[in-house]
Amino acid sequence: MKKLIIASNNKKKIKELKSIVENLGWDVKSLADENIDIEVEEDGLTFEENAEKKAREIYDFLIRRGDKNFAVLSDDSGLEVDYLNGAPGVYSARYAGEHGNDDANNKKLLEELKEATGEDRRGRFVCAIALIGADGNSNIVRGTVEGLIMEELNGEGGFGYDPLFYYEPAGQTFGELEAIEKNKISHRANALRKIEEYLK
Ligand code: IMP
Repeated sequence: MKKLIIASNNKKKIKELKSIVENLGWDVKSLADENIDIEVEEDGLTFEENAEKKAREIYDFLIRRGDKNFAVLSDDSGLEVDYLNGAPGVYSARYAGEHGNDDANNKKLLEELKEATGEDRRGRFVCAIALIGADGNSNIVRGTVEGLIMEELNGEGGFGYDPLFYYEPAGQTFGELEAIEKNKISHRANALRKIEEYLK
């Protein structure tokens, strides 16, 4: 079975990606499973640039290590809010300063939106996925999902901005949705559906 290495250290993200791609017949591995201790600097200006950079650095490492018969998949994602001209965008993970501090990021987002009402609170999650096959060729796709930013946190599920992201078709935030439901309609699921043809 071919190995698909997910170029991320975010456990919750890896779990979501795994649950979506595992049924495609790949042996899905995280960086930790592969003993790879590389933290790629996300200094690109777009989600696509960052996704490609993460996948490429891990791909290059695996080639140098002598690995064969594998593919590398990476995801760069974030939240864009209209009232904030697309912020936090590619800086979503470190919006409040410290990388990956979800509580601080949510607090800052609420603060920045305190004057915004109705449609001004519209935003979308964006996910760029890069896939590099054993031949070194890359494919990059983008998935999105639209929603409204709530005025308070709702729900304990998911991660990141999920408790603030109200998904209108379900009448719930991503924090309230069951994981199985989020994984059907999320930006990540939409991007994975597009990359699926390259994973077959
Ligand atoms: P990345 O690891 O650079 O892609 O950062 C992604 C950041 O965007 C996370 O730390 C979250 O703040 C946010 N984010 C991305 N996807 C999601 C999601 O599915 N739910 C909630 N927040 C997300």
